[in-house]
Amino acid sequence: MAETVLAIAEQHSGQLNRVSLETVAAAQAIAQQMGWQVEVAVLGSGIAAVAQQLAAFQTAKVYALESPQLAHYTADAYTHALRSFLSTHTPQLILLPHTYQVRDFAPALALELQTTVVSDVTACKLENSKLLFTRQMFQGKFAADVSFAATAPNSAPHSAPWIVTLQNGAYRADQAIAGTAPVENVALEIPAAVVRVQPQEIFQEAKHAVDLTQAERIVAVGRGIKEQKNIALAEALAAALGAELAASRPICDAGWLPLDRQVGSSGQTVAPKLYLALGISGAIQHIVGMKGARTVVAINKDAEAPIFELADVGVVGNLFDIVPALTEEIKKAQTRT
Ligand code: FAD
Repeated sequence: MAETVLAIAEQHSGQLNRVSLETVAAAQAIAQQMGWQVEVAVLGSGIAAVAQQLAAFQTAKVYALESPQLAHYTADAYTHALRSFLSTHTPQLILLPHTYQVRDFAPALALELQTTVVSDVTACKLENSKLLFTRQMFQGKFAADVSFAATAPNSAPHSAPWIVTLQNGAYRADQAIAGTAPVENVALEIPAAVVRVQPQEIFQEAKHAVDLTQAERIVAVGRGIKEQKNIALAEALAAALGAELAASRPICDAGWLPLDRQVGSSGQTVAPKLYLALGISGAIQHIVGMKGARTVVAINKDAEAPIFELADVGVVGNLFDIVPALTEEIKKAQTRT
């Protein structure tokens, strides 16, 4: 029987996390290269609808791993659930999105399975029949290709399953191939004593706390905005576009926008459909956080700014002239439709 790549989807309160479909797309792409089959697992309680959503993609099977103990996320329950599921299922490769939740439990799962995690992977390729996973190192200065190598000279490759977490935006959700898959419900026994923490009510730390990783459109401001009061220009453009506001590090360091809006190596990694960069030079520490964006539009007065190397649409000019005019045009276009 063909080897399996198992994509683990993530859901919260019955809503599928957007990056789950990126994980399915990645699993399909790898399976195609390797001649493997794809299976998907999703964990939770009362997740029949989510499992059905996942069944609309071309995979061999969707497993709905159910337990009342999985109603709210805890690392203990998730690790235990996957450990017991994997005692009867033996995929070669387990793919997960590199979300906060996965970062929390994947190391514990790897330890339980006596295996290794390659985390925050941006690409995967096949070279000399070996799967290589690309990940950034040293704040994005280098990209390294890593594999699950032999643990000793001449020994077999690191035993399965291999665990890989994928950077947000590394694969495109809209490239997940549609199809139909059977759903298998797996009722798991998770003894209460396994779960050592008691999840409390979910709350937002700040009134305006955002999860930029889920945003479809982002308007990001950099030092070109000059003063805090000018951020209102970007806010107006973001509002017109239905976009989230984000920033480069100097803007957050100055306290002009909260830290949860920072994009980059020491901020969030985002992969929206549209990323509009206003007065951002394109330093590598910023680029690593947004290069997964589908379309990048950059407005910068310096034609040599590195952001233009990445931009799909580049506008060389003064953002103080362009942004208000652009906002007005978008508003006008919206009233016309
Ligand atoms: P600048 O580099 O100063 O660029 C401002 C740009 O605005 C220029 O290109 C200029 O031409 C343009 N401009 C000026 N006026 C106008 C105008 N009127 N109209 C149009 N364009 C205009 N940075 C991050 O963003 N995120 C991170 O997570 C991050 N992490 C870091 C981690 C470490 C360890 C280190 C050392 C640095 C990190 N940085 C990070 C900082 C990073 O190196 C850059 O300093 C930063 O990204 C630069 O921000 P900027 O592009 O807004 O500013």
